[in-house]
Amino acid sequence: MNKLVIATANKGKYKEFEYLIKTYGKNFFADEIIFAPEISNLIVEETGKTYAENAMLKAHAWAEKSGLPCLADDSGLEVEALDGAPGLYSARIIQGTENKISWLLGELKEKSNRRAKFVASLALCVPDEYILICDGHCSGVIVDSPRGSNGFGYDPLFIPDGYEKTFAELSQEIKNSISHRTNAFKKIAAYLTKK
Ligand code: IMP
Repeated sequence: MNKLVIATANKGKYKEFEYLIKTYGKNFFADEIIFAPEISNLIVEETGKTYAENAMLKAHAWAEKSGLPCLADDSGLEVEALDGAPGLYSARIIQGTENKISWLLGELKEKSNRRAKFVASLALCVPDEYILICDGHCSGVIVDSPRGSNGFGYDPLFIPDGYEKTFAELSQEIKNSISHRTNAFKKIAAYLTKK
């Protein structure tokens, strides 16, 4: 695939995908990686009932629009003490990173169970050929106050299992070796390698 559209308007996710493609996907992806907002202001309604459905909707809509292979994800943070919220609605439940962080800390104020996991579904749509969907997750805990400035979204609140720093304190290399998006991307890469 010479050209690949990364079907997201989230610059944080785009940077991660760039890194993942260079690190795990260079045998089959793309001399040219395109950030979707550079080719259109298409907005895809996330009407699916699962991460996989939403990822598929985004990848398919962008593939139709561009005529190019498109990679999309849908992802979220599932917090045990909140019965899996904000989950599928992680992007929409509250707007703005600071608001998201204070909302989550408020919800967890009285809760001792701090377990949570990031989950992601990735969809690769090659126009008129196929859509491939793979899932990944990354488990950890939510801290009491935000730490670090890397990454995006809930990264300053999440310490992955096996580490003592939040995603926002860890380097891009470390986050991108263990994240939910990475685990899903590696499955896509493994499939394309066998294909
Ligand atoms: P969507 O996939 O565009 O619906 O957005 C997912 C939302 O989940 C993001 O806006 C973030 O709030 C959150 N999220 C997903 N993945 C990550 C991550 O790697 N770090 C921090 N927050 C994330």
